[in-house]
Amino acid sequence: MNNFVEMLKVLTEKKEEQPKCDTCKKCKATKEIKVKGKTKHLCSSCAKEYKATLKEAEETPAKAEKMDYSDKSISQLASIAKKDWGKVYYSAVPYLNAMRSLEKITDKYEADSGRSVVAYFLANATQWKGDVARNVKKELNKRLGGKK
Ligand SMILES: [Zn+2]
Repeated sequence: MNNFVEMLKVLTEKKEEQPKCDTCKKCKATKEIKVKGKTKHLCSSCAKEYKATLKEAEETPAKAEKMDYSDKSISQLASIAKKDWGKVYYSAVPYLNAMRSLEKITDKYEADSGRSVVAYFLANATQWKGDVARNVKKELNKRLGGKK
C-alpha cells in the first residue's frame, strides 16, 4: 500500500514537471522560444501562431517608427486626427475642435484644462482606428501622464 502511494506521488510529481503551454495553459509545452532573453514554453500550435506574430512585428517596425509624434503640438495632433479620422464621431468633435487651439497639454481651453480636453477626446475617440489613430493616442496618453 505504501509503495503504491509512493508510486502515485512520483507519477504526480513527474506530471507537474512537464511545463504547460504559456499561452493556452492547456497543452503540454513542446517548444521553447527565446525572445529578448526570456524563454516561452509553448505547445506546437501556439508556437506556430507566436512565430507568425513575431515575424509580423519584425516586418513593420520601420513603419511604426516613422509615426513619431513627440515633436507635434496638440493642435497639430488634432489636425492629423481630423484628417485621418475623416467623419469624426460626433461626441469627439467638440474636444477635437478645442484641441486645435492648444499648443501644450498644460494650456487652458476656456475654463477647462488642456489635460481634461485631451482626456475627454480620448474617451470619445474609441471609434478612431488604425495605425495613425493608435500612435496619436499613444502620444496623447504619454502627455497626459507627463508634464509638458
Ligand atoms: Zn498552447
